[in-house]
Amino acid sequence: MSKIIAGAAIRGAHKLVKRAETALAEAIAQKGEDAAVEYPNTAYYLPIMLLFLGQRVKKLGDLEESLAEARKLLPEVPSDEVWLPYLGDTLDAGVATLIAEETIEALKYAVGPGPAGGLWLGFTDDATLRLQGIKLVDGRMPGFAAIVGRTGTNREAVDLVRGLQERNILVFMAGHSGGRAIAEQLAEEGIQMDWNTFLVPYGKEITAAVHSLNFAARSAMTFGGIEPGDMQAARRILLYNKNRVRAFVLALDSDPDTPKDQLISDEKYATAAGAINFGFPVISDVDIPQILPTGICTYEHVVANVPLAEIITRSAEVRGLTIKIEKIPIPVPYGAGFEGERVRREDMFVEFGGKYTDAFELLRMKHPAEVEDGKIEVVGPEIDAMEQGKAYPLAILVDVAGRQFQEDFESVVERRIHEFISCANGIFHMGQRAIIWLRISKDAQRKGFKIRHFGEILVAKIHNEFSTIIDRVQVKLITDAEAVKKPMEEARAVYSQRDDRIAGMTDEDVEDFYSCVLCQSYAPNHVCIVTPERLGLCGAYTWLDCKASHQINAHGPNEPVKKGECLDPVRGQWKNINDYINVKSNGNLERFNAYSILEEPMTSCGCFECICAIVPEANGVLIVDRDYTGMTPVGMKFSTLAGQIGGGTQTPGFVGIGKLYISSPKFISAEGGIERVVWMPKALKEEVAGRLQERLKKIGREDLLDKIATEEDAETPDQLLEYLRKAGHPALRMDPLL
Ligand code: SF4
Ligand code: ZN
Repeated sequence: MSKIIAGAAIRGAHKLVKRAETALAEAIAQKGEDAAVEYPNTAYYLPIMLLFLGQRVKKLGDLEESLAEARKLLPEVPSDEVWLPYLGDTLDAGVATLIAEETIEALKYAVGPGPAGGLWLGFTDDATLRLQGIKLVDGRMPGFAAIVGRTGTNREAVDLVRGLQERNILVFMAGHSGGRAIAEQLAEEGIQMDWNTFLVPYGKEITAAVHSLNFAARSAMTFGGIEPGDMQAARRILLYNKNRVRAFVLALDSDPDTPKDQLISDEKYATAAGAINFGFPVISDVDIPQILPTGICTYEHVVANVPLAEIITRSAEVRGLTIKIEKIPIPVPYGAGFEGERVRREDMFVEFGGKYTDAFELLRMKHPAEVEDGKIEVVGPEIDAMEQGKAYPLAILVDVAGRQFQEDFESVVERRIHEFISCANGIFHMGQRAIIWLRISKDAQRKGFKIRHFGEILVAKIHNEFSTIIDRVQVKLITDAEAVKKPMEEARAVYSQRDDRIAGMTDEDVEDFYSCVLCQSYAPNHVCIVTPERLGLCGAYTWLDCKASHQINAHGPNEPVKKGECLDPVRGQWKNINDYINVKSNGNLERFNAYSILEEPMTSCGCFECICAIVPEANGVLIVDRDYTGMTPVGMKFSTLAGQIGGGTQTPGFVGIGKLYISSPKFISAEGGIERVVWMPKALKEEVAGRLQERLKKIGREDLLDKIATEEDAETPDQLLEYLRKAGHPALRMDPLL
């Protein structure tokens, strides 16, 4: 144990506590003791205070108590002569530091102007924490790296974060060296930084590093289910982090203008001591004193002097990260960190589909003799023959074969094409079937990315993920406008057959429904029950898809649930389904009605394709999809409605649905069904018109479609009523909804 680092960390803690006290005194002088202090959208108050002090900070005055506790923890600054044999003092200094930093950061929200702005994101709210944190917990992301400081050159910064992204490691950034931060270096190189790319710039000051630790603390409370409150709980939260959250700190400093012995400031040492409390080791490229294994960690606490080129490997070794780099033979980095990355028009080399050209993707089962494993064929121009800035047609045709493969699995595997292709750096992919949109960035093109590489990705990933059911994969890519036409027609016929296959089945035909708990990663109490006549509310899982997914992976997110006794055929309620959701919603929901919007409707997670909402004035309902950004006649836009109904709770009067459910005979049949629909955005109405008209024909109501208003007819309840009266809409004559 080094005396120098202990001295520096303790000195840093003293400085930060002093700073926090001054900032707090100023804030109180300005706003008063009772002024509120909080981070946005969190149930955990100021998480660091909740963790270490069991304190629920709400007002500025509460922070005086927090800082008084921090001060008590501060050890004496040791003289350089004193040898400290234990880490204890350094750890206490670390806790005091985190309390001080949490205070400083929270005051930015309380007093303004707010810490976020420009490229800095500030505090991570609970919704993002749930969405992203679960990936750390279930192992999709092996861990996170909190970078403080910067690298010597921008090139080094880019290489470092690309290396981390390729390994799916989440990257937090805070602090600077000599006035320059790594996030600023990355911004100069045009690197996209946000939660979509796993690159999260918290703030330029070192105090913003506390956001990675309050994120870690909340992960333990959210996913580990640990109730904070006392030292015992704090210990469990820290142990949870040490054992389950594989994080480490990269303390980087290479500022040529700063003397070597001042590269790492006292405040940085103090923050590092805070991280060591969580069991997160500190790895540095600077020659700082090391702290080797002690009782708290079985690994090193501080490892110094690691060359930048080796720092990821060394960190992974120290922290025991299992890292899987996907070996896909393409010239650009590949990993989940690139999945949400966009390619802007000015960065784009060429694009396909969208509203510009024909583009589609289709995966089919073939006889093994027809599939030459690994074969990739490009019909039409390769990227070298394409002109920058132009749009080209694209067909992605994937043939698979395998003894265990069934035709029903086609759409399940096909839907993964989006994710597989999106994970390549510099490639953007959106949509599915015949509504895809792709872009290849100039950067990817410069690195040698070719059209055939789409094939390389798909062959590798499909083998990787579906090895139990698929033995052979071949891919054909067509970029020729003429050649794409015929297969596109064939593909449309296949999509339509797939939809018809499910369209012919009824809920009464089957014994089992399927559950889907995929969205529990962030809506932990939400369960979708998928029936032949009501697909998952995201629109991505029909009953057949769930069945296939269960056959592919019996331990996956979908399982069959026996309906059991029917308790209410009109509203759609079954005994066994109730029992099942009671368990799977963690006791939050006792029952629901599959076909009702008013009485105990199905819950929503948040990824509904459409929202159906009652319009009391019109005695009917409206349906709005997420592409429609305008106002609806209930006075709320899609985004506002969405905010009201997510999170796995029942909201009578509102229900999240998939588009295909609109033309289902079971569409809110408890309230009278399709004749209740009084309003839909024009584009949605056109999109579902084909299927809906077929359904209306069956019930002899072909005239209904024209009577459903759109935004062109009505945006307020009054306009809507007037339109409905003129059109003679049946909802006006139906039984009162309320
Ligand atoms: Fe599954 Fe879709 Fe429901 Fe989510 S919304 S649980 S993915 S069916
Ligand atoms: Zn969902």
